[in-house]
Amino acid sequence: MPHLKDLGKFFYSKELKVFDMAHITRKTFKCTKCGECCKPITKVSEKDIQRIEKAGFKRGEFLDVDPFRKESGVKDVLKRKNGYCMFLRDNKDKTFDCTIYEHRPDVCREYPFFEGVEKLPSCLPNELVWYKKIEEMG
Ligand code: SF4
Ligand code: SF4
Repeated sequence: MPHLKDLGKFFYSKELKVFDMAHITRKTFKCTKCGECCKPITKVSEKDIQRIEKAGFKRGEFLDVDPFRKESGVKDVLKRKNGYCMFLRDNKDKTFDCTIYEHRPDVCREYPFFEGVEKLPSCLPNELVWYKKIEEMG
């Protein structure tokens, strides 16, 4: 039976690319424009709102109340349409684009590598809950 140390080498061998499949890093990450990260609610700051206004939109057109904090009445999330952020365009070829890319909120600029995050299992939002476990693996 091979020694565990050797198995480790095997699983991390570049030829098999197992390591690459299991993780993405800032260097290896490549966006496929699948649009999945534009499905969750996008919270915006006043700075983000003003930046979007500079793109020619009025805040009443793109702001909504956070559905998880309805009682607050505060409009601090981007409106959604058909389950996605209203600013997402379906290119009809299985790719999506942000129509306010140059004016997009900070959270969209940073995603998925927020400050202090160097390694992730995936950039898909529903898989990011595993991030901490991966970090613990070192
Ligand atoms: S989920 Fe990942 S691949 Fe898809 S659009 Fe967002 S960053 Fe790109
Ligand atoms: S502003 Fe652009 S990048 Fe951000 S969620 Fe909306 S479509 Fe996606």
